[in-house]
This record gives sequence, C-alpha cells and structure tokens, in this order.
Amino acid sequence: MRSASTDYLIVGAGATGLAFADTLIAETDAHVTIVDRQGKPGGHWNDAYPFVTLHQPSSFYGVASLEMGSGLKDPVGLNRGLYELASGPEVCGYFDRVMNHRLLASGRVSYHPLSNHLGGGEVESLLSGARTPFTVRRKIVDATWFTPAVPSTHVRGFEVGEGVHVVPPNSLPGLWHRSQGGIVPRRFVVLGAGKTAMDTCIWLLQSGADADAITWVVPRDSWVTNRLTTQNAPEFFNEAIGGQADQMEAMAQASSADDLFLRLEACGAMLRIDRERLPTMFHFATLSEAEVEVLRRIRRVLRLGRARTLAADHMVLEQGRADVEPGSLYVDCTASAVGFRASEPVFQPDRIVVQLLRAPLVAFSAALTAWIEAHHDDDALKNRLCAPVPFPHVAADYPRTVAAALANQFHWNQDEVLRKWIRHCRLDAFGRLTAGADKQDADKQAILARLKASVPAAMANMPRLIANAATPA
Ligand SMILES: Cc1cc2nc3c(=O)[nH]c(=O)nc-3n(C[C@H](O)[C@H](O)[C@H](O)COP(=O)(O)OP(=O)(O)OC[C@H]3O[C@@H](n4cnc5c(N)ncnc54)[C@H](O)[C@@H]3O)c2cc1C
Repeated sequence: MRSASTDYLIVGAGATGLAFADTLIAETDAHVTIVDRQGKPGGHWNDAYPFVTLHQPSSFYGVASLEMGSGLKDPVGLNRGLYELASGPEVCGYFDRVMNHRLLASGRVSYHPLSNHLGGGEVESLLSGARTPFTVRRKIVDATWFTPAVPSTHVRGFEVGEGVHVVPPNSLPGLWHRSQGGIVPRRFVVLGAGKTAMDTCIWLLQSGADADAITWVVPRDSWVTNRLTTQNAPEFFNEAIGGQADQMEAMAQASSADDLFLRLEACGAMLRIDRERLPTMFHFATLSEAEVEVLRRIRRVLRLGRARTLAADHMVLEQGRADVEPGSLYVDCTASAVGFRASEPVFQPDRIVVQLLRAPLVAFSAALTAWIEAHHDDDALKNRLCAPVPFPHVAADYPRTVAAALANQFHWNQDEVLRKWIRHCRLDAFGRLTAGADKQDADKQAILARLKASVPAAMANMPRLIANAATPA
C-alpha cells in the first residue's frame, strides 16, 4: 500500500471543491490534493442534459481567479438582452481550464480522478483498486455537501410498468436516433416542477413541440427569481442594486412569508408561472420573463402530487390517477438538485465541511470559506464568520435563509480585510458593481443609501417573518 501526504485533501472536484482550492492556493502556500469519483473536473455538470445552462450570468460563477464566458449579452433567444449563461459543455470546459491552467499549473495541487474517498484520508483508485492512505497535515475538506442529484444518474422514486418509455431530458435531443429512423414521440409527460422540468418544457416548446402535446406533472408550484435582477453590470444598476433595495424594503415590511413573496413579485424580483396560484416552493430557480411566458403556454398541468406508477395509458399520482395517451414519452425531471443534508459546523477539528454561506451562491461560499481558512486560526471565530445558511425546502423557509445570510454579511462587514476581498471577488454578484458606482452619480448614490438604510430594518423584521412563516397577510 502506497502512502502520500498533503496539507489539504479536498473531496470533490465540482464547483465547490474547485472554488475552494483556487482561493486556498491563491491565499496560502499549502499543498492541496483533490480526489473525485468522476473522471473529469466539474462534478454534476458532466452528467447534465445537453441543453442545460447556468441559471445566472456566467460573470459570477466558477472560481475567483478566472473569468467565465465572454462578457457578452445574448443577442437572440429567451435570454435576449441579458448577460450570457454558460452552457453545460462551456461549464465543463471552464473547469478543465481551471484544473489545468490554475490548479495543476501552480505546482502545488495534485488531482486524482476516478478515486473514491473512503473516509479518514484513505483514497481508493476506482481503476486499479489501489488504496492510498493520505497523511493530511491540515484538514480534509468535504466539498460534497451540495452534491445535487441529476436525472441521468439519480434513483427514480416511482415504479415503471413493462414496456413504458421513461427517459431523462438528456435523451431528448437524440430522439431521432433513438427511434432508429422510426416514429419520434410527439406527446410528452414531463415529471417534476423544478428548474430541470422548466428547462425541459421550454426546450420542447422552442424545438417545435405542440403546447397541448405536453402534460406537465407539477407536485408544487414554485416561485422563480427574475433573472433581470441578477445582472451585475453597470447598465443594470437600477434592476440589480435598486432591486436589492426593493427586496430589503419588502423584507422590512412583510408580515409573513407569503406576503413577502407577493411583495417581491410586486417589485419585479420574483415571478410565478400561474398567476392564479400561490406557490409553496422556492429553490432559487431563475428564469427570464420571456421563459416564464413560454411556460404559460402549457395548459395541461396536473397538480395531483408526485408520480407513483407510470403505465402506458395512465399514471398513478399521490392524489389520484390520470389518463395518458398511449405512445407518450415520459421525461423524468424529478431528481432533486438540492441534497438537503443537515447543516453542521463548517470548521471542525479535522475537517472543513463547505456549505452555503450566502444563498444561493455556492461558488462564492466555497471561495470565502477558503479565504477564512487562510487568514484565521481560531475555529470559533471562523465558524462565526461561516455560519451555514439553510437552503429553503419550501417558500416558508425563505425568511430563515435570508436572516442567516444577512447575519453572515453583518459579521463579514466588521472585518475590513475580508470586506475588501469580497468587494473585489468576481464570485460576489454585486460587490464590484456597488464598489464601482460613480460617487458623482446622484441616482446611484440614492439607491445605495436606500439599500444601506433598508438592511437593518429587514434584519429587525426577520424574527417576526420566521415566526409567521406560512401565515398569509
Ligand atoms: C442543472 C443545475 C444548474 C445549476 N445552476 C446553478 C447556477 O447557475 N448557479 C449556482 O450558483 N448554482 C447552480 N446550481 C447549483 C449547483 O449545485 C452548484 O452550482 C454546484 O455545481 C454544485 O457543485 P458541488 O461541487 O457542490 O457538487 P457536485 O457537482 O455534485 O460535485 C461533488 C463531487 O464530489 C464527488 N464525490 C462525492 N463523494 C465523493 C467521495 N466519497 N470520493 C470522491 N469524490 C466524491 C462527486 O463525484 C462529485 O463530482 C445548479 C445545479 C444544477 C443541478
């Protein structure tokens, strides 16, 4: 059995592990070893459906040291006029570049693909079976906390009858080849109501499917972030920073979680697909208004809970049975992109468990955790600066998420060096935008003043919102 040593053993070469490693090697002279069961960097992006894109502009995703994308706006399509969203292959290509040009090129990183961390620093090569016990001088870094499930690899939670066709969205662009030159299915049952299902319905409609040929199984309606408010460029200052001020004011005034979402909708921050229903779910899915308009064309929306059994001519859902036209293709979009592992302290005696510190910015949270590890020694202080932000299960959880994120921001603001790092970190969506606001621009300065004034009021209202979480106004 070979042995090896390293300062940090990072488990997971997805967005989280790479963003952590990138900042750690920039801020320290440590040696880092990265292991992953996957054969390539990028984690779940390697298994994503072909038409996946980021929810958010590429400009604040990835790792801190390397820009992602071209910085251009989309000239056509449903994201027209907004900043580009990297496609799945672009994200994977970017992470390859990060690994080769940043991490390995530093001479202080070693990378072990197709390698399983068995626990306690022991790593098994999936190809040879060889086991290597690592001596870890500093810490093991668990960068697997998020590990989203994706349809192509997840375990289905429903039964499938004999001869029934169920595919992940990954199979849709290749339907012609799948049919072996025969008949391509023209009716679809899309299972699931998260971002993957939204993307799949949009892709089908934009590719020519008839809206009435799609049955959409929606167990719960979802609030959706309006992508317009996530544009971190000066020409979107009003929508982005003004939008933040609007949101803080809504948080200061709302009386319940439902009331909060209605106020966020009124100020343009949130969207819902069916305006007649009050959504109960919020997982930070982000769409453009044009995408939401496309989804509104689907009229056959089944709200009978989750699928239990799929048959050729019907399906059994939690709250009833629905007929399905024979020959329909079921598209499984039910994988939960959110793992919902319980929160735990980020800094532990022998481990760092990277978690969400500002919702929903996974990459920023990982980079910030590495910065704190590099610049502080005391675990109590480090944990105070890195309190995990709970990911919302349902819309009613959102005030808790916001309260934890605002508390973290408050602590970060007390540390001048950290504050400066955040302001210049490309993964912080709005830091560079606010820092770069022209001091002579009265309109921008008024927005910044409104934002500054509304944050304490929002924080003060959080206990009431959490207590009244599900009560309508
Ligand atoms: C379709 C989709 C789109 C998204 N878009 C955005 C977006 O626009 N913006 C955003 O901020 N977030 C987005 N997210 C959220 C997403 O979760 C994160 O961006 C991020 O990619 C998660 O990365 P990760 O490294 O935490 O997890 P993963 O990508 O799952 O990586 C974890 C890695 O750990 C490895 N691993 C696990 N256990 C072990 C072990 N024991 N030994 C070795 N290796 C192990 C796995 O093989 C995996 O490669 C999106 C998620 C999905 C599913």
